[in-house]
Amino acid sequence: MKMLHDNLGVNEKGHLTIAGVDTVVLAKEHGTPLIVFDENKLRENCRIYKESMARHFGENSLALYAGKAFCCKEMYRIAADEGVGADVVSGGELYTAVSAGFPTDRVFFHGNNKTDAEIAYAIDNRIGYFVVDNREELDAIQAIAHKKGIVQKIILRATPGIDPHTHAKISTGKVDSKFGTAVETGQIEALTDYALELENIDLKGYHCHIGSQVFDIDPFCDAADIMLDFIAKMREHKGFEASVLNLGGGFGVRYVQSDPEIDYDKNIGEISEHVKSKCSSLNLKMPAVLMEPGRSIVADAALTLYTAGSVKTITGYKSYVSIDGGMTDNPRYALYQSEYTVYCANKMNETPDFKCTVAGRCCESGDLIQENVLLPSPKRGDIIAVLVTGAYNYSMASNYNRVTRPEVVSVKDGKAKVIIKRETYEHMTALDV
Ligand SMILES: *Cc1c(COP(=O)(O)O)cnc(C)c1O
Repeated sequence: MKMLHDNLGVNEKGHLTIAGVDTVVLAKEHGTPLIVFDENKLRENCRIYKESMARHFGENSLALYAGKAFCCKEMYRIAADEGVGADVVSGGELYTAVSAGFPTDRVFFHGNNKTDAEIAYAIDNRIGYFVVDNREELDAIQAIAHKKGIVQKIILRATPGIDPHTHAKISTGKVDSKFGTAVETGQIEALTDYALELENIDLKGYHCHIGSQVFDIDPFCDAADIMLDFIAKMREHKGFEASVLNLGGGFGVRYVQSDPEIDYDKNIGEISEHVKSKCSSLNLKMPAVLMEPGRSIVADAALTLYTAGSVKTITGYKSYVSIDGGMTDNPRYALYQSEYTVYCANKMNETPDFKCTVAGRCCESGDLIQENVLLPSPKRGDIIAVLVTGAYNYSMASNYNRVTRPEVVSVKDGKAKVIIKRETYEHMTALDV
């Protein structure tokens, strides 16, 4: 059987493996639901970006890992180790990075509504850059930087007016968006004027992010064109030449066999050729180019293991297989009808001919993991594996129905280590008074 990603396999017992480790044994030793990361795959994904960007965009380029995809101390230790930067969107993500010893000069603080407390906390921790969303936020950063007697580096988040044709909820570059300041309406130009006047603000450039799970490189090239045209215009009108251009995240990931295989290095190479030729046609010096991959660093490095419970066939309708997790650890089907590949990890060599809906355990009809899945006569106690769950699963987890959040382990050289402990009832009720 050709597996979806090269770190997956099937061993002599007919069990699914990740990085050579038997998932059925992991489920038995650690319990379920269990999220399993392949540490080498995480590192390899960081390296692909770092090396590819250095080769194509030059040494002053930087890949920033978007922590919202999967955030924990171990992830920041790995990102720090692999020499990538970090994109954080809250005081909580920043705190996690700081606690892991992440170098804060490589941190970019994002978000459409940073609080004064978060701004002050980030400045106290000497973060590299704020990615400023709007004018009110710029005023707040100026006031706090002034009070603390520092000059803060920033870039401005622009909405270039690109619709990358992914799901509407994960498309963010359109003019009508809660994120950023529009190019089309002239508001980003006005914000540039304003930022250049502020005493405690050092404007370095611009950011744009068009959306997520984008397979095609054209939307990135279109966004780069709009941003570089705009940068050239700012040079002419105001004598301001941006030295940083952040093209955001959003590269697609292969979740199911019908998704295309993606060559990230080739995509980055093609985007860089496009950016270089655009810069030369505008007679612009090539800015330091940044990218912010989240999903494509962590998604295919993990899978989730569940134990099957009830198997129910509604005569004349369909069958349901319920698992011991669901929207509390993976809300993506409920939110976006996201596609996943689902296997019975202990029966990989049996014929998958039982069509069913894999359902979570919450009191919510929409709590499904996937519909129209084929499994080999599933039974209570089977281990159900959902592949490619490294991104936007644990980071979106909740305690709905007071279901505790799963344990997360990482495997390397045949051994597993716990990187996030299983939440207990005591943890869950710790804040109840
Ligand atoms: C979500 C997001 C990212 C990461 O997107 P992925 O699709 O996970 O690569 C990067 N930058 C910004 C501003 C984002 O909102």
